[in-house]
Amino acid sequence: MTDFRRVKGTRDLLPPETAVWAAVEATARRVFGLYGYHEVRTPLLEHTELFVRTVGESTDIVGKEMYTFPDRKGRSLTLRPENTAPVARAFIEAGLQAGPLPVKLFYVGPQFRYERPQKGRYRQFSQIGAELLGDASPWSDAELLLMLDRFLRELGFTELEVLLNTVGDAPSRRAYAEALRGYLQPHADALGADSRRRLETNPLRILDSKDPKERELLAGAPALGDHLTDAARDHFATVCEALDDFGVKYKISDRLVRGLDYYTDTVFEIVSRDLGAQDALLGGGRYDELVSDLGGPRVPGIGFAIGEDRLVDVLPASFRQRAAAPPPVLVVPIGTLPAAQALKVGEELRAAGVAAEVEAAGRALRKSLERAGRLGARWVVLLGEDEVGREAVTVKDLKAGGEQHEVPRAALPTYLATRMEPVESTG
Ligand code: AMP
Repeated sequence: MTDFRRVKGTRDLLPPETAVWAAVEATARRVFGLYGYHEVRTPLLEHTELFVRTVGESTDIVGKEMYTFPDRKGRSLTLRPENTAPVARAFIEAGLQAGPLPVKLFYVGPQFRYERPQKGRYRQFSQIGAELLGDASPWSDAELLLMLDRFLRELGFTELEVLLNTVGDAPSRRAYAEALRGYLQPHADALGADSRRRLETNPLRILDSKDPKERELLAGAPALGDHLTDAARDHFATVCEALDDFGVKYKISDRLVRGLDYYTDTVFEIVSRDLGAQDALLGGGRYDELVSDLGGPRVPGIGFAIGEDRLVDVLPASFRQRAAAPPPVLVVPIGTLPAAQALKVGEELRAAGVAAEVEAAGRALRKSLERAGRLGARWVVLLGEDEVGREAVTVKDLKAGGEQHEVPRAALPTYLATRMEPVESTG
């Protein structure tokens, strides 16, 4: 045992689990591609100020959870805790507002938050996300949700719950923040230190509180729905109608405000009962002020981030099975046949796209068959001096009780490929 352990809250992903992750990501790439999204890759490191300005000073992420450190020149850098602000920064920096709009981007990659690790909560975790920039129409909200719905259905999910709400446009939020502050101010003594601070900086954040006493107080608070402008109300109504039209089921959850400051209008979460305490599989929403808050032009946006660790954790078994890497064919040289001959057959199979492993020469056949069993291989290709002379191989089908057939060498790849069970491609 070495003295080196992985850092608390991080994970090593090993085979065969990595094949499942790769298949999930391949599905995301394919489905998002159908909707015109292209991949973006931003750095893991950003200037700290980017997240302070966007995610918000009063949020847990910025207040308590960031991996922030000075670099060698004393500049404050942060390992990204989320990917929406970096995408917005990259969008502005590359001048993508010049169009054509909308710009549709997706990303897959690690994020870092210093949280207390538990099942479904890690300090390094992976998100699969998408961002649509440059379209304020409620139809883009609906289309983004349709894309999510299609992605999750292709993974085999059926029992997920979509929670939907609107946090209003900027004028609605200002009006509501005042109303909420007015209601909570007389009860400030009953609030915890965090909430009392937020009463000044960002009262909407208090709605996230898990404290039972605060929750009781919030039960009587004014509702955000009563402070929406007509524009915000219409926007949300259109999103709901579009989802109804396409048969996407959702539940309106008026306490859903999401943990980041930049959201406006539509916000959503998808939860899974199978996840336990950390039940949010993904979250997202519209962020019409984010790009301009970063000093860019007024470009509206909407996006989501899926927690990939959690997604894989509750993945339906049917998808998991299809995602498994194809078991290889084992090529076994018999007797004193040089390993090079077996390696040649292995290369012929790989050239035809059939996964093959080649046994070392001189190993007892019994040992090779044991190994085939451990690899989960169905076929063993036996190759002795006789077979080489006849330009043939003997194929042993372990699934059919070890039945053997002689097959001409040139026909071997097709013989095997046509008998393989299909697997989800991770390409
Ligand atoms: P957020 O960026 O906070 O809206 O998170 C979006 C999604 O990322 C959540 O719904 C989770 O599935 C996932 N997520 C957030 N924080 C963590 C974490 N510490 N560990 C694992 N997954 C996380």
